[in-house]
Amino acid sequence: MRFLLLMLSFCLTLPAQAEGFISRLLHKPVPGGVAVVDLGQAASAPSASYQGKPLLVIHEDGQRWIAIVGLPLSTAPGLQQVEVNGQQPLSFQVGSRQYAEQRITIKNQQQVNPNAANLERIERELAEQTRAYRQFSARQPSNLLFDKPVNGPLSSPFGLRRFFNGEERNPHSGLDFAANRGTPIKAPAAGRVILIGDYFFNGKTVFVDHGQGLISMFCHLSEIGVQVGDELPRGGVLGKVGATGRATGPHLHWNLSLNDARIDPAIFIGAFKP
Ligand SMILES: [Zn+2]
Repeated sequence: MRFLLLMLSFCLTLPAQAEGFISRLLHKPVPGGVAVVDLGQAASAPSASYQGKPLLVIHEDGQRWIAIVGLPLSTAPGLQQVEVNGQQPLSFQVGSRQYAEQRITIKNQQQVNPNAANLERIERELAEQTRAYRQFSARQPSNLLFDKPVNGPLSSPFGLRRFFNGEERNPHSGLDFAANRGTPIKAPAAGRVILIGDYFFNGKTVFVDHGQGLISMFCHLSEIGVQVGDELPRGGVLGKVGATGRATGPHLHWNLSLNDARIDPAIFIGAFKP
């Protein structure tokens, strides 16, 4: 009997996988991926958090509540936990994923080994961008199957381990699209512009808050076409493709962040490759 109770409580802490369209589209539980956790049926939305950060919670197919959890690249494979309404945590399993290496030659040595003044600037800009990623607005994302922000082939995938002039630096935190300078960049879902800047590494940059911690960053723009506070409809143009900041040529770099974890944007456009 005790064994049965133990088994039962074990099963209760491992949530059933939700079966709806969004769950099937987004559930890629690997480092840099997304876990969809079934929160069950309730009259109102449960509040859920992961590592102290509030989570995106939606009502799938008008039936069950699901939490959509962003998993940082640094996540260790194994069991992870979501807190729900301050009750017993729900566990979910994270698998592993191999990321390839990329070697890039940069002519501007300052962009590989910046001097003290540039390091100070980089640190200040990083803090500003981290604050933007940590914003959490109550709005529901307009759509979770995102549109591609530009028409162009994917060039560099998310998560590549990168070596600049032979020296290892941070892994690739977003997805690159090959596109000509001046190509319009469109919001993949509706959102509010929460930050714009002209940064050392990212160049001309726009942050768009899609709601509940789901935040896009678009980098290396030749031109920014919006201001902080602007509301963008799905498909609204926010700027043009360029090569500002640390870029070897014109392309769009798109970061997608969920609960302050940078995740593979390919998941949200249905282009994820395990
Ligand atoms: Zn990139």
